[in-house]
Amino acid sequence: MKSHVLRLALVFAIFFLSSHSRAAELQVGFAKVDITPILAEDRPVWLAGYGQGRRATAVHDSIMARCAVLSDGTKTFAFVGADLVGLQLPEADAIRKELPEIDHLIIGSSHNHEGPDVIGIWGRTPTQRGVDEKYLAEIMVKIAACVREARTKLAPAAASFGTAEDESLLGDSRLPKAYDGILRVLKFSDLDPDGVTEADGGNKNPAGLIVQWNCHPEAMGSRNTELTADFPAATVAALKKKYACPVVYLTGAVGGLMAPPDGRIHNAAGKELKEGDFEYARLYGEAVAALADQAIAAAKPLALTPFKSSRRDVYLPVRNPYYRAAFTAGMLQRNSYVDSGDPARHGKPFKITDTFKTMSIRTELNALRLGGLDVIGIPGELYPELVYGKFQEPPDPAADFPQAPLEKTVADIFPDRPWMLIGLANDEIGYIIPKRQWDNKKPYAYGRDKSQYGEMNSCSPEVAPILMAALEETAKALDEDQPGATLRLLSHNVWYGFGKQPKRKAAWLKWVAAQQPDIVALQELNGYTAEQLDKDAAAWGHPHSALLKEDGFPTGLSSRFPITDVARILDGFHHGLLRCQTGGLTVYVIHFHPSDWSARIREARLLLEDVAKLPPAEQKKVVFIGDFNGFSPDERAHLEEGGELARFFTMLDKRNGSNNLNEGKLDYRGIQAFLGAGYDDVVHRQRQAGSPYPGTFPTELRREEEMGRDRRLDYVFLPAGLAAKVISAEVVRDEVTAQLSDHYPIVLELRN
Ligand SMILES: [Zn+2]
Repeated sequence: MKSHVLRLALVFAIFFLSSHSRAAELQVGFAKVDITPILAEDRPVWLAGYGQGRRATAVHDSIMARCAVLSDGTKTFAFVGADLVGLQLPEADAIRKELPEIDHLIIGSSHNHEGPDVIGIWGRTPTQRGVDEKYLAEIMVKIAACVREARTKLAPAAASFGTAEDESLLGDSRLPKAYDGILRVLKFSDLDPDGVTEADGGNKNPAGLIVQWNCHPEAMGSRNTELTADFPAATVAALKKKYACPVVYLTGAVGGLMAPPDGRIHNAAGKELKEGDFEYARLYGEAVAALADQAIAAAKPLALTPFKSSRRDVYLPVRNPYYRAAFTAGMLQRNSYVDSGDPARHGKPFKITDTFKTMSIRTELNALRLGGLDVIGIPGELYPELVYGKFQEPPDPAADFPQAPLEKTVADIFPDRPWMLIGLANDEIGYIIPKRQWDNKKPYAYGRDKSQYGEMNSCSPEVAPILMAALEETAKALDEDQPGATLRLLSHNVWYGFGKQPKRKAAWLKWVAAQQPDIVALQELNGYTAEQLDKDAAAWGHPHSALLKEDGFPTGLSSRFPITDVARILDGFHHGLLRCQTGGLTVYVIHFHPSDWSARIREARLLLEDVAKLPPAEQKKVVFIGDFNGFSPDERAHLEEGGELARFFTMLDKRNGSNNLNEGKLDYRGIQAFLGAGYDDVVHRQRQAGSPYPGTFPTELRREEEMGRDRRLDYVFLPAGLAAKVISAEVVRDEVTAQLSDHYPIVLELRN
């Protein structure tokens, strides 16, 4: 007996050790891809970054995308550094959808001013789109393939992180002078087969480097017509030469306006070199590489596992008349909306006729936690004031909003760990200017007689306050629970939003909290507002919620994890349909027609059509959960036993003119649609032979009323892959749940 216990203890110890070390092992892989456009007579390449009509005449050095893929054994993150002026969110979205195996992808454009236009505003003339769509489509495919290739090269590694500072390598052309003069390096070392890191005696090359520096790649200036990656080409080349390893170059905070300075770079003869000279670009790039050398020498080991990540959609008002004109003229091509006034929500799609409405665009913020390092993804050109808080103090009364509160800075929001900052991450929305320093109207700050350069490249004065507040929320989500080893989902039709027998609500809140769910799907939230659902969700520990609507019979969702991609579909669905992403799942909260079999068939069809439009990776992660108001053909025997239910519905249809029965019979096709599409009725599948019928309606609460016999109206359907991960799925029928609502709840547990 004793030895048995001991052996069991040993088995557990080994299990925990092995699962722990598996989760904690860092792996890294690198790849690169040439994305230089082809120069042809009939296919002009327009250089982006300065004025329009700058046609590329030759290739000086290749335009590249370089990728590092990192894994902690559970999650896989990818970082891409691309020699582009700024890849936009629609392209980042499309690439992300091609890479379901990557949990979090950040594509950071270097903001190269000597590469092809991938945004649209640098065409032949100021009103012609400068993007070669075919080229853009090609590089999306290439970048996705590059990430896949890097993933195939994943190998165990150790990491160290180092910084070095040299402000003199930066010029700032806008007051106040504020810099982020810190270069940041992540260095990866191969692990020996026995798991021990090679001592850094200088005799072994790193497995790879990720370098972040904060300067506009515009050493070649506005007159150059040769395609080049500008100074980062020289930085990468110098580091590769010295360390013989892959290098990913990322651009940090470059707003306001960080560029190579004058008077800093001299050739061997001591002559000062200037912008627009390839020797200048090379020597500046090599000076950055020399700073990286210092950072590498100073690097200290840092555990980069486990991984966590957080991403947030943000809607930014676009008040810049140039941008707006570029949208309406079709030079900028991305979805635009009528500004809802709330950065978390978008309004209707923006139409050309919405002359007097404010336009908004979606962008995103990213925050990743890699063990002891935070990585921040900013979707544009962050003013360095917003990194360390070197704001103009006191505010200049001549600026447009001298009273605007100071935004929280990156250093405020990420105080606990070292960090890297990736600018132009998955988007380029232009300058992110501290609101207090916005200065577009007379009089001008610093006693100037004209405005400083900047505002014309920013969406609106609200960009910085909105983005920094959203960054704080994104960072907070890193401290929250992230999907763990298992996920618990709960679904409940709560009966008329507690408008009937409201006293039961306190017991219900307590019961839900006791279930410790990760995700809660609710039906019949009658009378609820978004605020009320948020408050309820907080009572069971969920910081996130989404309500379908505020009238009729709303459904809603709450989650321990951020809820994104919320779709509120009202057309064609009697009570509407809520679809969102949370905890790695795409959750549909269902509440089908209560008394019309044909409406339910239509709703099921529309729902399955909606699923078919999702990317394949999301289709594998769909959850249909809620009140289907329908009957499963698997339960025909129970439902038709003695004809009682048919008699009850005949009475209802006669009395109410409803459509419960199809020619006097139960119709099973609203549920059959899901079974036929290959989805698993997981409660049915988990049911033990001989266990009581798992009816979900009615409960004891409405014992006095005539409701017809016990039946199952609430279901969870999962695709086969997800269904295989079900640990338990049951209708919770006990004394407590019998009194909480007229439906019994469903609780489902999944391996993650
Ligand atoms: Zn710029």
